[in-house]
Amino acid sequence: MLSHCANSQCSRPFLRLRQGKLFLVETDRVAESGELAPPYSPSVRQPPRRVERYWLCDECAKVWTLAHDWRQGIALVPLPRPPASARPDLEAGYGEIA
Ligand SMILES: [Zn+2]
Repeated sequence: MLSHCANSQCSRPFLRLRQGKLFLVETDRVAESGELAPPYSPSVRQPPRRVERYWLCDECAKVWTLAHDWRQGIALVPLPRPPASARPDLEAGYGEIA
């Protein structure tokens, strides 16, 4: 679970918390059919539940995220790719100051 990258195609060994991205997924709650588990909310105090930890290495965390599906468990989901020129507005503001 936490010993390797959650991407089965990668399986890079987990070395440090600072690298990559850590995911905490509650797995204790058994969802009723058709009901989705509520999103994990760290601000709400709840009794301890079974939380699985998953980790994606740096490389995988750039392109993948993890989603919890109550039927399939944890699943790799591709991140939406930001457009190459994602910040045209930021640069448009400059140049007017003379
Ligand atoms: Zn990886």
